[in-house]
Amino acid sequence: MPRRLFACTPSRLAAFEDCPRRYRMIYLDRPRPPKGPPWAHTSFGVSVHNALRRWWEEPHQRRTPLRAAELLRLGWIDEGFRDPEQSQHWRERAVGMVRGYVEGLDPAAEPRGVERSVAARTEALAFSGRIDRLDDRDGELVVVDYKTGRRPVTDDDARTSRALALYALAAGRMLRQPCRRVELHHVPSGRVAVAEHTEDSIARHVRRAESVAADAVEATEALRGGGEPDRAFPPRPGSLCSWCDFRRLCAEGQAAGPERQPWAALGED
Ligand code: SF4
Repeated sequence: MPRRLFACTPSRLAAFEDCPRRYRMIYLDRPRPPKGPPWAHTSFGVSVHNALRRWWEEPHQRRTPLRAAELLRLGWIDEGFRDPEQSQHWRERAVGMVRGYVEGLDPAAEPRGVERSVAARTEALAFSGRIDRLDDRDGELVVVDYKTGRRPVTDDDARTSRALALYALAAGRMLRQPCRRVELHHVPSGRVAVAEHTEDSIARHVRRAESVAADAVEATEALRGGGEPDRAFPPRPGSLCSWCDFRRLCAEGQAAGPERQPWAALGED
């Protein structure tokens, strides 16, 4: 019998690693347990990503900083903010960020893909995902991932990102072109963190991903075999609990940290 591959995205693997109970609630429990209220920082991040995608979809002549600002305002998601004033304040901060970011871009440089879906198989995984931007620079593909959080990104973040390594593997195979370089673009600061992968470094990420997948499969089989949900998928309380969508359903998570307001991750406003 051919071995069944574990279908996954980078988020799915990360969810299991971060907290098996949370993974179970997202991917296995049906009906899916209700999530908490929307987060303002998610609205902020999605709005910025959407504006940048739509900016690249414009004809060259319309790829201006002014158009980036218009697209951001048109697509602003205002869920999770304390009130309309806070939402507007952060919308205008986002406008400033995307304007500043696109000022550093060449509007005529056509990416190979924007929010490009990619997929690849390894010995144990059927991996898929979506790359924020895939550049073609001098015949080599470059994976670009936008970041909108408060913490600036580092080259180490780019090097250790499993998602970026798997994207590079998948893009290179699908488009039959070298793809070694991965970049994190921190939109608020304009900082770009870079890593150059080798076959070995990508293989290490794949092995680690396959190991996480094997643990997830084993836990799922234990659950389906009648095992205790909390034994197969134990909670892993920690600093992430305050930001977990399922904290209200999880006593261990509630004990691990305080409840946060939906806009708390934005920081000072
Ligand atoms: S609150 Fe914490 S322990 Fe509970 S499911 Fe979420 S991440 Fe896991």
